Amino acid sequence: MSGRKTGVWLVGAWGGVATTVVAGLLALKRGLTETTGLVTTLPPFDKLGLAGWDELVIGGHEIRDTNYVAEAGQLHEQSHVFAPAMMQAIREDLEAIDKDIRPGTLHGVGPKIVSLAGVDALHHQSESAGAAVTRLAADMHDFQKRHQLDKVIVVNVSSTEPPISDEARTLTWDQVEQQLVTGAACPLPASSLYAIAAFRQKFPYVNFTPSAGSDLPSLMEFALRQKVVHVGRDGKTGETLMKAVLAPMFAARNLKVMSWVGHNIFGNLDGKVLDDPVNKANKVRSKDHLLTEILGYKPQTLVSIEYIESMGDWKTAWDHIHFKGFLGTPMVLQFTWQGCDSLLAAPLVIDLIRLTEREARRGKAGVMSHLASFFKSPMGCDEPAFALQFQELRQWAETVSAEG
Ligand code: NAD
Repeated sequence: MSGRKTGVWLVGAWGGVATTVVAGLLALKRGLTETTGLVTTLPPFDKLGLAGWDELVIGGHEIRDTNYVAEAGQLHEQSHVFAPAMMQAIREDLEAIDKDIRPGTLHGVGPKIVSLAGVDALHHQSESAGAAVTRLAADMHDFQKRHQLDKVIVVNVSSTEPPISDEARTLTWDQVEQQLVTGAACPLPASSLYAIAAFRQKFPYVNFTPSAGSDLPSLMEFALRQKVVHVGRDGKTGETLMKAVLAPMFAARNLKVMSWVGHNIFGNLDGKVLDDPVNKANKVRSKDHLLTEILGYKPQTLVSIEYIESMGDWKTAWDHIHFKGFLGTPMVLQFTWQGCDSLLAAPLVIDLIRLTEREARRGKAGVMSHLASFFKSPMGCDEPAFALQFQELRQWAETVSAEG
């Protein structure tokens, strides 16, 4: 035992991914499950002294009125995940964590996400962006004090927001700060306000979603001023992971990809939010840019994401890759990926928490580009191929292990 205590502040705390992170951490703490799916339990990460399961304390922000037992129960009923014996063993712990979940902000999230909100979040709907940041930061600070935590890692696992305006993208930090202080209208979405709240407390921020979060010039500047680490965007868990592995193969064999079509169907709450064309735009962009970057040219692409309620948390992605070989001969690769969304995502979120805590302990600041292999649209990294991104993570692990 290191004696350290680290807070994990989940934004979107009662969602599918967050609930699975919490259930998974409790199961790991009690030795009820193996570490399959966790990258950080592989040998290259052995000597890093990463946070143990017992060191992590959970809290978060949420906009719906629900609780962990209800959300986990629904995942079990609809998607047949979580063994009943495990649920029984962790039930009391889940109920205790509910007490550390606070109402989030609905600032700039768009009507689809507002429609999910319960009374507690709606109560704060009229507050300015500046007031929201102050309240969110106070919640994070209270959590740290109450549990006597060394630091808190803020992780965004909330619903995908609509794309942001050009104005939001071009603001400097001084301009954003001015808007927050004066209570003027601020074009930043909730995901970015949570990042600002985190940075104010000098807490690291991880964005597992396609929403803007800290991926803005203004927030990059603020993170450096506050000397905090951050990273994002959009966890690479399924179909896009396959793309990042397969596309380099076509490139390396000089096979010309003519078209790549990916149809995705799934039925969880994330799928329901992405059923709105505005919210979907962010996700499609995040899934689509990769091929051009890897191949060096743009094949015809189509990405569809459809909400099929009966599928629950299970996602099927069917990809059809039409490519040209020697003497102009057309050929086809097809694959079908059937994965359980939250169960693919949760171990990666746990990995990101441990790796972020380690980098913060090194006293580093700015974007953690060595974590690119975890993201569809990695910040601070131009290398799109998965194998090379993972190599970078291994090199980082070697360097940090050698530091002792
Ligand atoms: P979910 O819909 O089950 O959970 C999202 C939660 O966020 C909900 O409980 C919702 O009420 C809450 N929320 C929405 N807006 C909020 C706000 N402003 N403040 C606080 N809480 C808010 O979705 P999920 O399946 O858990 O996925 C979470 C996010 O992770 C999504 O953005 C998704 O696109 C992204 N993601 C998921 C996967 C995966 O599951 N495999 C992979 C990559 C990215």
